[in-house]
Amino acid sequence: MPKTLVESQEVISQLIDASRTLMRAGLLFRGAHANLSVRVSGDRMVMTSGGNVAQLTPDDFALVGLDGTIQEGTMVPTMKEIVEMHAGLYRERPDVGAVVHSHAPHVTAFALAHRPIPLVYEPLLRFGLTEAVPVVPWAPRGSEESVSGILDQAKDHPGLFAVTLANHGVLVFAADLTTTVQLLTTLDEAAELILKATALGGAKPLPDLAIEQVRSRIKAFSVSH
Ligand SMILES: [Zn+2]
Repeated sequence: MPKTLVESQEVISQLIDASRTLMRAGLLFRGAHANLSVRVSGDRMVMTSGGNVAQLTPDDFALVGLDGTIQEGTMVPTMKEIVEMHAGLYRERPDVGAVVHSHAPHVTAFALAHRPIPLVYEPLLRFGLTEAVPVVPWAPRGSEESVSGILDQAKDHPGLFAVTLANHGVLVFAADLTTTVQLLTTLDEAAELILKATALGGAKPLPDLAIEQVRSRIKAFSVSH
């Protein structure tokens, strides 16, 4: 397991690729404000060290302990308040291997309206989500109140892999970076389609058994192949 930034070069290039993928997909919105991290061992993560990820280079990362201490690299002061949001998720959820925060435009529209994102778009079920993506009440970013709001949701709902941050943006946390990026992409698709469906009378709920049915289909598929 990587213990230094030099040993984390592969992770760093994956993070740069991920930020480009999100940028191309329009998920960083115009300001390209985002922060991305990957857990590199039981007690540390590699994280973007600045607030804008439009032009990331391998020098734009820091190695950070899950206790919040910066072990290698430098971080712009405004990022220090974000560290606990990422570190806390890794501490509370051993299943989480990557965390991405962005202002993906359609998901963020729901965050501004304080509206949870309902599970009405079938592709979201395939990520294991079983309930609506909740809104964490607003508090100054990185504050104890904001972080504990996020961590409470993550702790209380082990099948939850995303929350929106009221009046701010979204936080997605899944097993690995690829899944986290795909989930953010699918969540923004869902938010966009739900908004479009309002012109047609609103999205309709999935049948009650849909979650179970999708799970057993995925299981059957993975066994037979
Ligand atoms: Zn933000």
